[in-house]
Amino acid sequence: MNQRWRFIALWLLPLGLALLLGWQFLGSGGINESTVAPRNAAVSRMSYGRFLDYVKAGRVTAVDIYDGGRNAVVEAVDPELDNRVERLRVELPGLAPELINTLKNEGISFDVHQPRTSPPALGLLGNLLFPLLLIGGLILLARRSSSMSGGPGQAMQFGKTKARFAMEAETGVKFDDVAGVTEAKQDLQEVVTFLKQPERFTSVGAQIPKGVLLVGPPGTGKTLLAKAIAGEAEVPFFSLSGSEFVEMFVGVGASRVRDLFKRAKENTPCIIFIDEIDAVGRQRGAGIGGGNDEREQTLNQLLTEMDGFEGNSGIIIIAATNRADVLDSALLRPGRFDRQVSVDPPDIKGRLSILEVHSRNKKIDGELSLESIARRTPGFTGADLANLLNEAAILTARRRKESIGLSEIDDAVDRIIAGMEGQPLTDGRSKRLIAYHEVGHALIGTLVKAHDPVQKVTLIPRGQAQGLTWFSPDEEQTLVSRAQLKARIMGALGGRAAEDVVFGHAEVTTGAGSDIQQVASMARQMVTRFGMSDLGPMSLEGGSQEVFLGRDLMTRSDISDTISRQIDEQVRKMVKRCYDETIDIVKQNREVMDRLVELLIEKETMDGDELRSIVAEFTSIPDKERTAPILNS
Ligand code: ADP
Ligand code: MG
Ligand code: ZN
Repeated sequence: MNQRWRFIALWLLPLGLALLLGWQFLGSGGINESTVAPRNAAVSRMSYGRFLDYVKAGRVTAVDIYDGGRNAVVEAVDPELDNRVERLRVELPGLAPELINTLKNEGISFDVHQPRTSPPALGLLGNLLFPLLLIGGLILLARRSSSMSGGPGQAMQFGKTKARFAMEAETGVKFDDVAGVTEAKQDLQEVVTFLKQPERFTSVGAQIPKGVLLVGPPGTGKTLLAKAIAGEAEVPFFSLSGSEFVEMFVGVGASRVRDLFKRAKENTPCIIFIDEIDAVGRQRGAGIGGGNDEREQTLNQLLTEMDGFEGNSGIIIIAATNRADVLDSALLRPGRFDRQVSVDPPDIKGRLSILEVHSRNKKIDGELSLESIARRTPGFTGADLANLLNEAAILTARRRKESIGLSEIDDAVDRIIAGMEGQPLTDGRSKRLIAYHEVGHALIGTLVKAHDPVQKVTLIPRGQAQGLTWFSPDEEQTLVSRAQLKARIMGALGGRAAEDVVFGHAEVTTGAGSDIQQVASMARQMVTRFGMSDLGPMSLEGGSQEVFLGRDLMTRSDISDTISRQIDEQVRKMVKRCYDETIDIVKQNREVMDRLVELLIEKETMDGDELRSIVAEFTSIPDKERTAPILNS
């Protein structure tokens, strides 16, 4: 059906044009075969002289004169061919009265046809036809596209574009497939009951909520949870992503929302899932460049639709975002997304249960405990863990092993955290410099008490980094002390400090670029967010560094010039102090460093225990007990 509309629409335009041109041509009054030879297309020509002969010979039976006497079609009979009628075309010298007289005298029937000017009605039609057809074409194009779904970026997108929402009659996802988010699951269990047995609530007069907002970082299973609700309740799942709303043409987002709700209403009970709602639902009137009409229209449409259906009609809208703080307050009002469920990154127990879910269909070595993987992966989300097991399985297959072992898991973890492994550099000055840089990180990490212990140092490149130093942060640490932040700043500066001390000020490299960025951001946050500078315990900035996100713009501009100069000054002082201390440690431990660098160049990777045993030969190490990895490059 849709295909047919499209087909018709596409053909209608050129067809219309062709027709129109034809009409215009007719209307112009030019001679046209069809008016000259109405009954027979194959008309042969005859000279005027021959025509006069024919008239004299009595062979002409009829003459039709056109164009004010310049052309004529003559009907003549051929006595030699049983008086067969011929039609011949003659060019006349003009409409001479003698000719008319001759024809009269000979008793030949004749007719004079006036030059054709198009009749007024037809002319009007001709002029109207073009716009009519064009408009018709447009309407058809719009018609067909509103009910079609397909890939993005089609050349012609007028007004209502493709409704780019997906509908799944059955998601096939159950709550058992979502692990490690127990609290969220409990909250959402109720939504399943709303959908399955609404009477239970409506009979006692309870209002079923319309909207539920899932808040959590990417990859924690928000989409999965929404699908699981639909799966458990056995209702269809309509989904649409906020970022898709924001389109080139104004009005597209709004019409898409309208379509989505229309379809959903035809399929109650059901779930509508709006992913990345912050893309449309951001606080209005706070964007750079004075807001975005398209986004606001879409948001308004969404609000209108949400208000437009009854609370207990069997549609529950679930939206997901990782930033509830930037959402427009109108979205969070009662009757809209008034329920918030937070979906947090899993703790160690959560990671274990997620690993259990995703290892169901994988062969894992009997020696390898999922618990040890869970312990090794703090900060990993559900998506990271799923990805981890998959990467490990791929490595296992590549190594032609029977089952996933510890080394595959280790390699997969490294790869997920730091990117693909590259080729190590050949020995030379660069490699030495990188070795000093990494050893600098590792040494500071080992000698500063508050720093997380080193897990390993390597000169094998990964992702963007030429060398890496991995640290084991404390499991599930939520509060970070000032001493720890300072230690982290020093650890991050360790690489640059080592380059500086060993190779001299002129030789330091760009390799410390990302370290220095980290340092700057940590130091600034200590001053502005955590009140850890001489400016005292004041929060001087909003929660985010991203200026372009909604509200932050306003918070930023609240800060006066004086304060912002003071902030810069404090940040500078803090970093300077840390760097001086770091340089001191490096200088005092030059001997250990040289030793470690020789070893590292030889072995390319050194684990934390080995490193510590060498450092211990030279100096005493403050003790710390940790398990899992993070890194500094
Ligand atoms: P989000 O929508 O929060 O960004 P998704 O739901 O899209 O995250 O998660 C992506 C994938 O990661 C899921 O398809 C699933 O395989 C895995 N995953 C994420 N969280 C979990 C979880 N809590 N339990 C099981 N698998 C999960
Ligand atoms: Mg998602
Ligand atoms: Zn570094």
